[in-house]
Amino acid sequence: MTDFKDMLSSSDYNWMKCSFAQRDVKAVLAEFVEEDIKDLQKQLLHNVQTSKGLPSKTICNRCLLQNLLPCRTGKMCKFKNKSCSFHKDASLQPRRCPTNGLCDFICFGIIDHHRFRGPSWKNTDASKWCTDSWTIAKCYMPPDGYLNAKSAEETDFNGVLSVIINCIYCQRRFSEDLNNPMNVCTKARDKSRDVRYAPNLELSDAVRDSIIDTLVDLLNDSRFFRSNQRSVECREKLIKLKANALRVSTTDITTALEDSVQSANQALEVLKKPNSLDAETEITLSNLNNLADNLQSTCTCVKAEIEKNLIEKLYNSETIFFQACLAESATFNSGEISIRFVLYIFLIGSLIFAFSKNIILWCVIVCFAVALYKYIYFYRPARPIQRSPYIIQHEMELRQIEHTAEAVKALQHKLLKLKRNGKQRK
Ligand SMILES: [Zn+2]
Ligand SMILES: [Zn+2]
Repeated sequence: MTDFKDMLSSSDYNWMKCSFAQRDVKAVLAEFVEEDIKDLQKQLLHNVQTSKGLPSKTICNRCLLQNLLPCRTGKMCKFKNKSCSFHKDASLQPRRCPTNGLCDFICFGIIDHHRFRGPSWKNTDASKWCTDSWTIAKCYMPPDGYLNAKSAEETDFNGVLSVIINCIYCQRRFSEDLNNPMNVCTKARDKSRDVRYAPNLELSDAVRDSIIDTLVDLLNDSRFFRSNQRSVECREKLIKLKANALRVSTTDITTALEDSVQSANQALEVLKKPNSLDAETEITLSNLNNLADNLQSTCTCVKAEIEKNLIEKLYNSETIFFQACLAESATFNSGEISIRFVLYIFLIGSLIFAFSKNIILWCVIVCFAVALYKYIYFYRPARPIQRSPYIIQHEMELRQIEHTAEAVKALQHKLLKLKRNGKQRK
């Protein structure tokens, strides 16, 4: 397996190290956030069922957001010729939930559990609130870019962290008061912006260290994370990463690159169909273009590194094969003999005979040695080279990075199209 530890010791890859750190911390946080949101969903359902005297398995999937939110809900209702484009049809008018107000109760519950009482309705599907708890989590994420995040796994670091910050139910995991605007989670979120918005993928060593330290602090919170096994392991990994003592695999690299492509795609989703390329959009687009170009060149470097490693391994496996042939050949079946050993024997033999001045014997011995060497080297039994596990592994690694490079290319293509359309509209 190719190890990129040495390649990543260069400051050029600081952003990637931070991306690894965020990915690992996100995996730890996501597990607990998922659990917390499931509990919140259960609690909301239980409360409404008991308060309204409904049977314990009562759920509702008949209400859409439009039915639950009153008209003139900020960021949702948009008016065109005095009619709301959100509540446009007769079936999309606000009304009470037909299941004895169950969905209305959940809707209030979601608002009540929002630290700033402003859920992101744009991402969620109210008809799934009773059956898919992650649709509730999405109310606590930033409004843009999370429409397609169907599970904790598909949600990025910023999304998961936003749920912790915005949903007061998650406070139960932290000893630090998350009401405090400068808490361990908001610090981690703000620092994560440095990684996401580094279009040239440049982060100084000081910024890199401060990002990793903030994440370590987060996992050191005393109520739950300090002693939780997964969190302890992750913290140790971060410390090793910072000290450049962590093995880095192709999968680590491709995941970091793909995460970056994903955040760029999210940023694009927000920009979708700009009416005209205003100055701000143009800057964002040019930053994203830079980012995509940098990701592409990183893919090329990674591919070159894998290929270099493959060639080294191929050379080694050829040597192993050659030695195996020698060991198997009928003439030298000691199993231990090597070509160098054969050559040394004949060299010593030829020296002895050279000193004894018997030139004919000397010639015969040298010719014999050369012939034997040639026989072993060129006429070794034809046998297909066994594809050693390293070769198979390297081929897989190459396919992985090629797949990632494709994703970057698709992003570049999208950017180009957007730019062209914007210019046409201008
Ligand atoms: Zn409306
Ligand atoms: Zn309902």
